[in-house]
Amino acid sequence: MDPKIDPIEMDRVSAHIRADYHRHSLLNLWQRAIRHPSTCEQFPVGPAQPTVHNIEQAWEQVRIREAYDHAAYIRSCLPKVARTNPASDIIFSSGGSTGKSKILMGTYGETLYNARFHGKGYNFAGIKSDDTVFELGGHGTYDTDYCAYHALSKIGCTIIPVNDHKRGRENAEIMRELRPTAILAVPSGLYPLISYLEKMDVTHDEVRLIVTGGEPLSPQLRQRLVQRFGKNVSFGSVFQTSDHGTLGFECAFCSKGEYHLHEGLIYVELERKRDEGVSELVVSNLHRSRMPVVRLRTGDYVEWADPNGSCSCGLTSRKIRVLGRVSDLLKLGGTAIDGKILSSLPERVGVHENKINIVIRRDQLNRDIIEIAICDELRSKHEKALQAGLLSIEIIETAIRAGRVIGPKFVAPLGKKEKTSDYGKLRVLRDLRELEPVA
Ligand SMILES: [Zn+2]
Repeated sequence: MDPKIDPIEMDRVSAHIRADYHRHSLLNLWQRAIRHPSTCEQFPVGPAQPTVHNIEQAWEQVRIREAYDHAAYIRSCLPKVARTNPASDIIFSSGGSTGKSKILMGTYGETLYNARFHGKGYNFAGIKSDDTVFELGGHGTYDTDYCAYHALSKIGCTIIPVNDHKRGRENAEIMRELRPTAILAVPSGLYPLISYLEKMDVTHDEVRLIVTGGEPLSPQLRQRLVQRFGKNVSFGSVFQTSDHGTLGFECAFCSKGEYHLHEGLIYVELERKRDEGVSELVVSNLHRSRMPVVRLRTGDYVEWADPNGSCSCGLTSRKIRVLGRVSDLLKLGGTAIDGKILSSLPERVGVHENKINIVIRRDQLNRDIIEIAICDELRSKHEKALQAGLLSIEIIETAIRAGRVIGPKFVAPLGKKEKTSDYGKLRVLRDLRELEPVA
């Protein structure tokens, strides 16, 4: 492999060079991760160490991991003795869709190195050097936004670092004064701002682009954003998770849900699910040393959109198509259903999805209960429509009639203990059956 090729340029090389790069990188990752206390158990015992020639075959013997126990993992990463080199480590955290905050650790250098790939993704999503970017950050104690600033600095744009997405009024004021042309945010971080702009009936047609990542942008939120920022506003997205790093980016030729892979940063495998006829994305990150990411499930169903790297944009990185979350599939009253049918209910009846939760619990008789958690004011306005909307789903109506599912019950908005962490992702549908097992 040509050592002069920067991994960030790995989507401009031939498939042959890319495969060679992946083989060398996997061998390096193997050598690091097999010594790491949190990943060593994934590796097979016995066989001789792989070589660059048989690493792909050997890699298939490494155990696929469901998830990390972040607390145990981070404890095993903390240095036991003072480091002899001047490299600094940094600990960061972000709330995931599980609602539990995930604490991660990396060297400062590799964290910034990963951020370069984020920057490339934001650039392909449409952010240019003449943009003024309203970077709508997290909320809570840990700060990870420095990665986004570093990423944006690679584009050369002007950055407005906005630290707390929950302050809708103050953030709207910053927007009014500084007139950004682009917004970078996690979709659920946009609700306080958009709610305030709606309340004051303010529009900003100078915003030409909204780039999101970390979770899908719902059709309802997209529509609300168009109303505030004008019908000419365009949308771009990147595909990333805190556990795996940034995974993919959109080019102008990507259809909805399609992403070029960051081939220089990650090694992906599509693991065929035997029963379901679909594949789950499994990722190894090639550039994390403190917490190696080794064959870790993403929880996303995907398929190849361009397995050969022949996109019309000219990049040679392969493309995947994200089909949905593994957790979207759930069993209700003994029948498998697509959770999206339930989580799209607010949109269908015109309730703002950040004001409502559909909660599934289990009662003493082991029956599933559907609760709709909503404040009294919205309940009195929308109760009938929500009830009718739910019962219009045939599987649910049948299960309720047969007594296998109880509901819908209208309850007060979810209390504090059931909220996700402050930086948690918006989830309309909450399945609490595993969290609250009935004794
Ligand atoms: Zn492309």
